[in-house]
Amino acid sequence: TVDRNALNFSGGPGVLPARVLAETQQAIASVPGVGLSILGISHRSDWFAGLIEQIERDLRALLDLPDSYGVLLLQGGATLQFSMVPMLLLRGSGRTAEYLRTGYWSAKSIVPARLEGEVRVLWDGEAQGFRRLPMVDELEYSPEAAYLHYVSNETVEGLQFHCVPGRDGVRRVCDMSSDFLSRPIDIERFDLIYAHAQKNLGPAGVTLVIIRRALLEQVPPGIPEILDYRAHLQARSVYNTPPVLAIYVVSRVLRWLREDIGGLERMGALNRCKAECLYGVIDCYPDIYEGWARPLDRSWMNVVFRLKRPEWEAEFLDRAEQAGFSGLKGHRALGGVRASLYNGLSLQAVERLAKFMIDFARHGI
Ligand code: PLP
Repeated sequence: TVDRNALNFSGGPGVLPARVLAETQQAIASVPGVGLSILGISHRSDWFAGLIEQIERDLRALLDLPDSYGVLLLQGGATLQFSMVPMLLLRGSGRTAEYLRTGYWSAKSIVPARLEGEVRVLWDGEAQGFRRLPMVDELEYSPEAAYLHYVSNETVEGLQFHCVPGRDGVRRVCDMSSDFLSRPIDIERFDLIYAHAQKNLGPAGVTLVIIRRALLEQVPPGIPEILDYRAHLQARSVYNTPPVLAIYVVSRVLRWLREDIGGLERMGALNRCKAECLYGVIDCYPDIYEGWARPLDRSWMNVVFRLKRPEWEAEFLDRAEQAGFSGLKGHRALGGVRASLYNGLSLQAVERLAKFMIDFARHGI
């Protein structure tokens, strides 16, 4: 029999490692050492405060994160951050925020920013179909900008920055929703990072924010308290009722990442290997498959491609489903095929998909 959980290539939520699923199942029955179901433990308990502290410790260790940054577990998804960021950094600043418009999600992030102040789109990839990212010499940053915002991995199109854009000295804000903790990052080059959970971190309901504390020295007036990062820092991420189960799963994912994988260097090496495996097949059969992104900008997390003839696509997806794979249909905005290779997906699962693609290319049509 096929373990469909292990072959889930969905763009989100991502597949969770078997260890995390087993620990979560156990916790729903009874959390070890507590004797209560995770669904019945109070978010005001000492145990839960300890869990939040443990998450913070694990994240600091994984990212080498200094104390000059705060760690927050919020709600509202990455979409709420599209508003919270400009409320804090743009509102009333008299400056301009710079945005890179590189795909579906960065395009969305710009709309609420415009409500808070002046926005300059430094680069817009739409005319080229969002198939590539800007080259360094195509970007002219202003030293006066309020901040630069970009999306490190465009989940829909499968485009990923493999270097850090921006100008040191100007605040750098990054939506890392779909590649957070997938590889090491040079954390001190960022001023604010946000990532929702439902890719590499755990289930939906919790959104992680890492913020340079110095950003909170000047907060514009008139921000409702629940949208003010300071309130969440002060409340240690328990400002109101948090999603306890989702947060518990995040804590298990971080443990798995530290103990079973061995940290971000190794996670990155594994993710690269997974991505190269699939891109290798795509490049080997150019009469059958066509990758969406320019090779230089290919994502290690979301491998997006089309079949050379549109009529082959339904056949490909059908047969993949029959073979036990799921989640391969491309995002509704783009169509095509998308194989998402988030942290929890094993190399064996990717090799199995690669073999399926080779068989399909050789004998399928
Ligand atoms: N940013 C990126 C890169 C995403 O992939 C997504 C959703 O998949 C979002 C933002 C929106 O996240 P949410 O649905 O949690 O608001």
